[in-house]
Amino acid sequence: MAEQKKKPTITNAAGYEQAKKAAAQGKPALAQGNATGLRVGAVILWVLAFVFEILAVLIIFGKLNITFLPTMWLLIILIVLDLVCVIIGSQLWKKANHIRPASEKNNALFWIWNNMGVIVACFAFLPLIVIMLSNKNLDKKTKVVATVAAIVALLIGGAASIDYNPISAEQQQAAMVELGAADVYWTPFGKVYHTYVNEAGDEYCPYLNRSEALTRGTVEQAIAAGRTRLCSWCAKHDGIDTSGILMDDGRAEELAEPLTETVDELTEVATELQELEDNAETAD
Ligand SMILES: [Zn+2]
Repeated sequence: MAEQKKKPTITNAAGYEQAKKAAAQGKPALAQGNATGLRVGAVILWVLAFVFEILAVLIIFGKLNITFLPTMWLLIILIVLDLVCVIIGSQLWKKANHIRPASEKNNALFWIWNNMGVIVACFAFLPLIVIMLSNKNLDKKTKVVATVAAIVALLIGGAASIDYNPISAEQQQAAMVELGAADVYWTPFGKVYHTYVNEAGDEYCPYLNRSEALTRGTVEQAIAAGRTRLCSWCAKHDGIDTSGILMDDGRAEELAEPLTETVDELTEVATELQELEDNAETAD
């Protein structure tokens, strides 16, 4: 029985043609302005987050009298608004770091730049938590509920602000120099980019699920999309010089592989059953 292998649908990343041209000339396609714009947006949102926190503090100290809602609900609404601004701001900041990463030459600066979102999340909730816990004006229920809400917000905001795939300017540069204008591919939920996708020859990196949609772009675009690491299998197969390039540990794909295989096997069994059924019908 001939093995039927599904081909993924491949779509180009936005601005693919332009990125290809720039990469061929050894230039970055994503303007410095893109990253700056994202950083400005992040800072505006973070300032808004602090404004909501300050409003909450003013309410706790009775400096701001709003009567149309109970204090507990006012505090919860302000904590949620604070959280929304922290999270969206951090996503913009992370995106900016993947377009224009910080240099790793200065360790302290590199750490601060990459963890800015987490630092902001701490400043956006910790003072509020301390103030609520030490305040005597609030009734017990308001105090407990609002404090718990602020702690939960701190945890969610902190976790959402962590850059789980940080990259340095040096690592980005190494990948762009080594891969040049070559096409790389990534899946909707994967954390790495792949090089071994032979679209004409139907040959693929074994870690790719063939039924999945793939995005095609330059390595600069893959990194900007948060795929900061190169698939180690592809690197080996395509003989890529990986010195200086951020590599994956292969764990995410390995975890997904048994599932992919099971789906493939089930598809095969289903096809065989269908064939048996067809044969039975013909025999009748
Ligand atoms: Zn791969």
